[in-house]
Amino acid sequence: MSFADLGLSAEVLKAVADAGYTAPTPIQEQAIPYVLTGRDVLGCAQTGTGKTAGFTLPMIDILAAGRARARMPRSLIIEPTRELAAQVSAAFETYGKHHKLNMALLIGGESFSDQERKLDRGVDVLIATPGRLIDLFERGKILLSDVKILVIDEADRMLDMGFIPDVERIVGLLPRIRQTLFFSATMPPEIRRLADAFLMNPKEISVAPPASPAATVAQHLITVQPDDKREALRRLIRNEDVKNAIIFCNRKRDVDILNRSLLKSGFNAAALHGDMPQSKRTETLERFKEGEIRLLVASDVAARGLDIQGMSHVFNFDVPIHAEDYVHRIGRTGRAGRDGRAFTLATPEDGRFVAAIAKLIGKDIPVISLEGIGPAELSEEEGDTRHHGRRGRGGSRREPAGKREPQAREPESKREPESRHEPAARAEPRPDTGRRDERPRQPARDRGRRDGAQRPPLREAPRPITMDPEGKVTPLPRRDEHRDDLDDDRRVIGFGDHLPAFLARPPRIARG
Ligand code: AMP
Repeated sequence: MSFADLGLSAEVLKAVADAGYTAPTPIQEQAIPYVLTGRDVLGCAQTGTGKTAGFTLPMIDILAAGRARARMPRSLIIEPTRELAAQVSAAFETYGKHHKLNMALLIGGESFSDQERKLDRGVDVLIATPGRLIDLFERGKILLSDVKILVIDEADRMLDMGFIPDVERIVGLLPRIRQTLFFSATMPPEIRRLADAFLMNPKEISVAPPASPAATVAQHLITVQPDDKREALRRLIRNEDVKNAIIFCNRKRDVDILNRSLLKSGFNAAALHGDMPQSKRTETLERFKEGEIRLLVASDVAARGLDIQGMSHVFNFDVPIHAEDYVHRIGRTGRAGRDGRAFTLATPEDGRFVAAIAKLIGKDIPVISLEGIGPAELSEEEGDTRHHGRRGRGGSRREPAGKREPQAREPESKREPESRHEPAARAEPRPDTGRRDERPRQPARDRGRRDGAQRPPLREAPRPITMDPEGKVTPLPRRDEHRDDLDDDRRVIGFGDHLPAFLARPPRIARG
């Protein structure tokens, strides 16, 4: 099938040809004709499948007829992160270059006044992160009653980041008669519930099972002792024909440490994580996209969904704690049919994470060995940190690895997971307290907290309490009390800051 068969206008087809696309990807093939007929679409698709063009191309044609009124956008695209929002806006510019559509990008970390000025001029396409959109709505700068097309992108990511209450609120402000396009990489029950609530008789499209990495990515696993990880990475980078690569770390602080180590070794590298100011993040990404930076050392939250053209390699300096993150990470390469290479460094204690990945993707990651390094035997026991150089799955015997940089490895309980299944409150607390985007939103019940405390981890159990006969409540220690990667102010303690009055009252005994 060709793009011309999809029902798109000549102008859009020209922009597509200018972008160098010769044939539609499966999601484009399936979604575009339905979007053009005005049907709701529920798309189960990851980034890298071409889904952005799947909704932007037909939207451009639909919006070509009609004019926007001041402060009343005609379509709304909600994205979980600023980077993704900026990426979609770049896609609109590329595909809409032969149209005269007005677009505004509402993301945190950018000046309100510029964004307001654009809104005042009237926009056909509004691309926003939930927090900034609600801010502007609350200031009365925007009216959502004219939105004809709504796109909710990366819905599962919104869920992970605690944005769903905001998304529900935004959808409640939109006209009920509209076209809704809803995309998510995975469809857990919570996302399905939302889709059922937001969509009317949608066309369901699923382009790749959520757990399958692109077939175009050659995967490799190297088992190493913790102290050998940096040396192994350096060798891999030197041995491989690395054009540009993302190197993933599980912890933000390791992103900085590893970046400094790579710079010291003479590599062209830069760090990207959510604690960096937005301006620095944007600048770093731009430089990476432009090819000025070759190696981007990043956390999951910062890098998820980024579309970097033709990236040759992904390195997992740490095995991701959640198997799904492995698929997302290596999906940064091998995009849109291009070949890519992914290397994962696993230490003995990573055994159970490696096993979980193998289970998810339905096969073992092929093990390779690096001369003079490792291999190490992986253990699937929790907390097993045996550091002996026994023969591992990789085969060859471990030899002294020359000059090594000792690397402190912290126990699992001290890691700061930055993955999609950890709420980003823990993953990427943002220093810019005035901004709301990409910082997890507090669920409605926690909004009253003024201490800047962010959303507690989803799976964190409430702290147990005891109550004596006088009605005095004493919190008991929780099992994970020792964890120092959770700030005190993020822990749920009983009912949080609020002690319900009924608990403080001595029990009344009814007399018959
Ligand atoms: P996405 O999944 O929307 O993030 O897109 C992933 C990448 O695929 C982007 O770099 C797009 O520019 C590219 N792309 C989208 N559609 C096509 C196509 N039909 N042919 C080739 N590349 C495409």
